[in-house]
Amino acid sequence: MGGLSTEILVIGGGSTGLGVVRDAAMRGFSTILVERGDLATGTTGRFHGLLHSGGRYVVKDPRSAKECMEENRVLRRIAADCVEDTGGFFVTTPWDDPEYAARFVEGCRVAGIPVEEISIGEALRREPNLNPRISRCFVVPDAAIDTWKTVWGCARSAKQHGATVLPYHRVLSLLLDDGTVKGAMVRDERTGEARSIEAEFVVNASGAWAGQIAAMAGCEVQVLPGKGIMIAMNHRLVNTVVNRCEMPADGDIIVPIRTVSVIGTTDVKVDDPDTLDITAAEVDQMLDAGERLVPGFREQRALRVWAGARPLFQERAEKVTDTRDVTRSHTLLNHRTRDGVERFVTITGGKFTTFRLMAKDTVDALCAELGVDRPCATDQEPLPDSEDGRYYWLGSRLSQREQTLHDDQLICECELVPRRDLETAIERRQTTDLDDLRRTVRIGMGPCQGGFCIYRATGILHGVKQLTGERANRSLLDFLQERWKGVQPILYGDQLRQSRLDDWIFQGLLDVEHAPVAEVGDPEGVPA
Ligand SMILES: Cc1cc2nc3c(=O)[nH]c(=O)nc-3n(C[C@H](O)[C@H](O)[C@H](O)COP(=O)(O)OP(=O)(O)OC[C@H]3O[C@@H](n4cnc5c(N)ncnc54)[C@H](O)[C@@H]3O)c2cc1C
Repeated sequence: MGGLSTEILVIGGGSTGLGVVRDAAMRGFSTILVERGDLATGTTGRFHGLLHSGGRYVVKDPRSAKECMEENRVLRRIAADCVEDTGGFFVTTPWDDPEYAARFVEGCRVAGIPVEEISIGEALRREPNLNPRISRCFVVPDAAIDTWKTVWGCARSAKQHGATVLPYHRVLSLLLDDGTVKGAMVRDERTGEARSIEAEFVVNASGAWAGQIAAMAGCEVQVLPGKGIMIAMNHRLVNTVVNRCEMPADGDIIVPIRTVSVIGTTDVKVDDPDTLDITAAEVDQMLDAGERLVPGFREQRALRVWAGARPLFQERAEKVTDTRDVTRSHTLLNHRTRDGVERFVTITGGKFTTFRLMAKDTVDALCAELGVDRPCATDQEPLPDSEDGRYYWLGSRLSQREQTLHDDQLICECELVPRRDLETAIERRQTTDLDDLRRTVRIGMGPCQGGFCIYRATGILHGVKQLTGERANRSLLDFLQERWKGVQPILYGDQLRQSRLDDWIFQGLLDVEHAPVAEVGDPEGVPA
């Protein structure tokens, strides 16, 4: 396999990397992005889904609050189809310091965040499940944002501007020549082939892994992975983002996203962003926290739990005892001025909400290093499917489904995924990995977690891609294993019953454990 060459190589296919590749391509640079897994399988695919107004940070981190508000406005404009305009509440519960509310309101004023106090009666009229013991309620422009739509929208836009986006390409090493980074050696994780990519400039946008990539160029970058867990409940307990009006703490936000509500999160320093274990105590802590905002939360059905690692940057000398004290703003490191390594920058920290700004700052810096003047236009040009400026709304899938009720088969009842959408996604993504398809069309994300739809999807995949039975079985098993990781820590009540039923289907009826499977490493066993 021959090598590639480009002007700019971006490492990391999360929101930051996708923001950078889009911005650079729009400014006319030839650009390649490499990601070791599928796009948004790092922190970006494991976050809370909140398009921050900045309200959360107004007291503790005013710079971050202001950036969030500004970028919230931009993303509503350029990524409307990815945003659900839920609005946000900040509520004072009996467990919160009532004095905080005044500081919150003043902080919003300073950060330019529109805020309005409403009566408790009005708050409960809008959100009947909310704890009636709240004493104050403020409305801010928080929203829910769909990570996969946003990230793939950036990828499609970048490709339209000439960029190449390579998921499943892991960086093995950086190409170094006399103190200058000249590209990277990468391995295609699906074929096992290694190739070099030569580049005039390399951007390290690998989030919580940024320290590992920087070390390949001999640069020390301390990025602390701050683990946070989140639990998706099986329906919309609230339709507005609900935050506790207090200093940021654990389990103080519920985000209604798509058909579920997500409670989160925690913040614990861990050593390795690839090892994010979830304990029963953490699950309990989140359910208790949910109970304070929505009484009866614990009795609701928990669908799934997952964890992500915040990329929290610290300059070398600083010692951290509490990861919540690390700024949520971003940091751009120019390794020429910082470490004497040319043509290499690291962009890390920040939020999903501010990824476009992070990308702009990065590409502005590249332009300065390369001595060119090319303005950024990412705040003007909408992402594909967001051109009409209309926000996503919850009923959109049902309304689409009603158009095709009699002429298209429904494959996933929970997420209303019709056969045609699944087949189109299989062709477009050129994948045999059911988890890639889950991220594309949301198949298997509802209450049954794939129990009723995933064997149908496997059959369709088998037909469309003309897979061997062994290869199709491999895809099914991989999907089931992955789903199990998120279900196992929250097995109680209805979800336990559901899992028993799924178990009977897959073990009792289909005996998947003894089905012939293609092995990983065998050409038939590696996703095409
Ligand atoms: C629990 C939690 C909740 C959060 N909630 C919110 C929220 O509600 N709203 C918000 O705005 N922000 C939120 N954030 C913050 C936000 O999710 C992150 O700041 C953001 O997603 C980071 O994106 P990134 O692209 O920098 O990193 P990532 O998404 O982690 O991307 C880095 C990528 O680099 C890849 N990579 C690593 N090593 C290699 C290699 N050798 N070769 C190739 N690729 C490699 C990884 O696979 C990964 O995909 C939350 C974070 C956490 C942890």
